[in-house]
Amino acid sequence: MKDYKELRIGTRAVHAGVEPDPSTGAIMTPIYQTSTYVQQAPGKHKGYEYSRTQNPTRTALEKSLSALEKAEFGIAFSSGMAAISAVMQLLKSGDHIICSDDVYGGTFRLFDKIYRNYGLEFSFVDSSNLANVRASLKSKTRVIWIETPTNPTLKVTDIRGAREICDDCKALLVVDNTFMSPYFQSPLQHGADLVLYSTTKYIAGHSDIVGGAVVTNNAGLAERLHFIQNAAGAVPGPMDCFLTLRGIKTLHLRMQRHEENTRAIFEFLKSQPQIKKIYYPGDDRHPGYSVQCRQACGHGAIISLDLGSLANAGKFISGLEVFKLAESLGGVESLVDHPAIMTHASVDPETRTALGITDGFIRLSIGIEDVRDLISDLQQGLERI
Ligand SMILES: *Cc1c(COP(=O)(O)O)cnc(C)c1O
Repeated sequence: MKDYKELRIGTRAVHAGVEPDPSTGAIMTPIYQTSTYVQQAPGKHKGYEYSRTQNPTRTALEKSLSALEKAEFGIAFSSGMAAISAVMQLLKSGDHIICSDDVYGGTFRLFDKIYRNYGLEFSFVDSSNLANVRASLKSKTRVIWIETPTNPTLKVTDIRGAREICDDCKALLVVDNTFMSPYFQSPLQHGADLVLYSTTKYIAGHSDIVGGAVVTNNAGLAERLHFIQNAAGAVPGPMDCFLTLRGIKTLHLRMQRHEENTRAIFEFLKSQPQIKKIYYPGDDRHPGYSVQCRQACGHGAIISLDLGSLANAGKFISGLEVFKLAESLGGVESLVDHPAIMTHASVDPETRTALGITDGFIRLSIGIEDVRDLISDLQQGLERI
């Protein structure tokens, strides 16, 4: 097999990490459902000792994840939150972290309700304006943590601009790239030190596993993260690694269809009178549009809407049949979420209001169904208002 870095992403998605099984020739990576490995003599083994430390199905997934990103290292975790938690364990009490104010609700909860108790200090700022990030720098700032676009208001942060700030203060730049997937955005190429994923979303793509990953080109950080993972134990099981690998094989096809459907749905929704505000980073009136176009080659498959009131949001949701009411995103099926009550309930009401997550706010995760059925479903929802 050629060096994967010479291959395009569709080929890397299908092949990278996956070698025919040496003992049988099986083309698909076997699910190595084992906790331990027989050694020929004490300390003499084939590279595998205990499955918290390494497992061959996980190794294949990690190679695939790093290849998708053209990165040197990939580490698979049992969930996106486990990956985020491992990154935080690189830090020490007293360290300061600057984080986008509109991060994934679970990330905010982990930082604010758990890591704050261990002496880490956080500033949550609107990183779509980098002046806010600069203004929050302290002598102990060790990490700048961004999500771009954010969840659910889809604010865009300039990754290269954030890199420049990190260079000035010697902080690590961490980018949660879950919303874009490696198909649309490669933060390492814009200067990120660590790229984080909830593989639960687009990477696995079928709403059938929970998983996470960190990819990096920094050997020292990769080694420390492996150490932390082995010490703390947040490892994915081999069955989940297998399903994630299987999902990755169609990542490029799914992302193309997600993007096409989302563009068509945006064109339909933007002129509907029931919608007070629409959020989509591919909208040329979106304040982050030019940055988004510069650093990503697509706009993803999330559209958020403000329908004006809780009552309107409820009526809209009650009219949907194809879109299912559920948390999460990034799967093949279309989902609708009411963040204030569902995914972002742990964010206090004042902060939610400041972010624009009103009671009439709805997040759509556009799937890969036939877009005509999706549009008529949304039309049916809007007619209830
Ligand atoms: C879902 C999500 C996470 C958390 O990942 P889990 O796999 O649910 O633990 C983190 N960041 C973003 C942007 C997400 O969408």
